[in-house]
Amino acid sequence: METKYCTNCGKSILPGEFRSANGQCGECAAKAQATTQSGRTMQYSEKDWLVTLLFSIFLGCLGIHRFYVGKVGTGILWLLTGGCLGIGALVDIIMIATENFTDDANRLIVQDSRKNPNYAYASASYGTSGGTKSSRDDVLDQIEKLAKLRDSGAITQEEYDAKKAILMAQI
Ligand SMILES: [Zn+2]
Repeated sequence: METKYCTNCGKSILPGEFRSANGQCGECAAKAQATTQSGRTMQYSEKDWLVTLLFSIFLGCLGIHRFYVGKVGTGILWLLTGGCLGIGALVDIIMIATENFTDDANRLIVQDSRKNPNYAYASASYGTSGGTKSSRDDVLDQIEKLAKLRDSGAITQEEYDAKKAILMAQI
């Protein structure tokens, strides 16, 4: 095994030392993780929401859903106490169903649609306005917007005519 270098800070990483999937040292990987968590994209668990929910409903009193998400300690507790006499199991079902249940790393277990809101949005807008629309329609749209600006007084008739001429030339 050869010595690797952190792709972020360049520090040497000895064989056996922690090295993240993208080749960063432990320090940089931890920093990247913290940035992601505090940033716009919240960290969601990779555990499947539906599987967790089904486990909690059918095997909740055995704590199977807690084992599944990595909460082994409380899983054993649930197993020994029958899901805290069923109360803990019931609370868990509600927490999971409302997407408030977390895994062992304190990441929310949510439905797939919530994990990738940007992707869902992108594909939705692609379906309605992207791709199929011709550049001619785009130009006509812009002229329409210009007309509205003119009507509202934001631009003058002369500016409207000049911009329209430029846009018409693109068709
Ligand atoms: Zn590093």
